[in-house]
Amino acid sequence: MELMYRSTRNNQEKVTASQAILKGLAENGGLFVPEKIPKLTLPLEELAKMNYQELAYEVMKLYLTDFTEEELKQCIERAYDSKFDTEEIVPLVKVDGTYYLELFHGATIAFKDMALSILPHLLTTSAKKNEVKNRIVILTATSGDTGKAAMAGFADVEGTGIIVFYPKNGVSPIQEKQMLTQKGNNTWVVGIHGNFDDAQTGVKNIFKDKEAAEELATMGYQFSSANSINIGRLVPQIVYYVYAYTRLMKHEGMEAGERINVTVPTGNFGNILAAYYAKQMGLPVEKLICASNENRVLFDFFQTGTYDKNREFVLTSSPSMDILISSNLERLIYHLTGDDSEKCKELMDALAQKGSYTITEEMKAGLADFFGGYTTQEQTAQTIREIYKKTGYVMDTHTAVAAHVYGQYKEATKDELKTVIASTASPYKFTRSVMEAIDTKYTGMGDLKLVDELSALSQTAVPKAIEDIKTASVLHDTVCETEKMLSVVKKILKKDQL
Ligand SMILES: *Cc1c(COP(=O)(O)O)cnc(C)c1O
Repeated sequence: MELMYRSTRNNQEKVTASQAILKGLAENGGLFVPEKIPKLTLPLEELAKMNYQELAYEVMKLYLTDFTEEELKQCIERAYDSKFDTEEIVPLVKVDGTYYLELFHGATIAFKDMALSILPHLLTTSAKKNEVKNRIVILTATSGDTGKAAMAGFADVEGTGIIVFYPKNGVSPIQEKQMLTQKGNNTWVVGIHGNFDDAQTGVKNIFKDKEAAEELATMGYQFSSANSINIGRLVPQIVYYVYAYTRLMKHEGMEAGERINVTVPTGNFGNILAAYYAKQMGLPVEKLICASNENRVLFDFFQTGTYDKNREFVLTSSPSMDILISSNLERLIYHLTGDDSEKCKELMDALAQKGSYTITEEMKAGLADFFGGYTTQEQTAQTIREIYKKTGYVMDTHTAVAAHVYGQYKEATKDELKTVIASTASPYKFTRSVMEAIDTKYTGMGDLKLVDELSALSQTAVPKAIEDIKTASVLHDTVCETEKMLSVVKKILKKDQL
């Protein structure tokens, strides 16, 4: 039977998986959610025998029911290939008794590659299925990693174009260089004078603008989103939690059914929501440990049941988590209301109008699956240093936030269950913060020198993504005010037509 998707803000809006992927966002700003979260159909013992691609098919087919077997398998093959520097795609590495699921072996050495290497294929397949003739223009706001990963995925994919907005002063130098050197005739990068939330709100406003949509349709374009609100991003992320579990069975002799914890360094709540879906599908997961940095809006939410974005925005050493509006939380809120789109819309309207909302006691009970924690930048640096000194393993700042929060959880609960930490970026992506955390002698050293020092110290090869930007030239230089985002988009597309 076909699995349909409904909007979190209007239960009447009902679409197929491919339509949800094409639209990105629902009509009134809601997010698409599956009518029912499917259960895993094969026993874990069977899934444990599969490689990443085979397992991806078994999980994704349960969500993308209007894709044929051939279509979906082709998308998977094109995505998870030699762009990844290891055949395993996501190695599970045991360090000091904890399991790190390394989600950073793709083209841009961060976890966004997991979904963004397949999204362009899901999208172009969806366009064909729905007889879309317009060129699809991806609009994306990025806190640093999504932008590059999305462009790498969409560059020169026929029938698509991509425009990325990022906070001009809110990403790391390496992240910025990675984006500004992006090749492809269909990629554009724009810096904005504002933070990530401004960029994200700006993009959402363009999506909601019916007049703009009509004007662009006459030019032969239609917008779609590659942000983590697209269901085509969420579904591929569920796969690696099932994969991690089955690798514990395969390599660590774990019995099917044993419960594990999952710890996720969280920003927009997409990655951890995928783990929540995996749990709902029947994967034996005990706690979903949600790790935040000093932008601890989620930690406070789990403590109090009040989500309040009215607070100072802090730029931290884990910039991909510097977020005050965690968009994907809306899907959890919707499920907590018992799939009540009116109630969910009420809460999201309150967030838009006053910047805060409070959930009911009944909904709060549903948060028992989660444990929230946060770290300061000092604790993050200390974690990187201590684990390196103890084991020789070097982790990036985002992963270190998760490792520290997991430590807090263990201390608070004495829970000894096996735990998987989502390791979301290569340390090479945040070299300066990582090296300065390890030893003050690296302070002030040049970026490229630090890369070589990291390679020597961790005894790992410099990833290709970093080698490439050493020599690449800057190809993009547009910067604008937040209010000007729509006019910049129009200008880009008008010029593109010439
Ligand atoms: C995007 C990102 C995160 C946060 O993931 P969400 O799905 O937005 O919660 C964490 N770490 C890194 C390195 C990221 O790029």
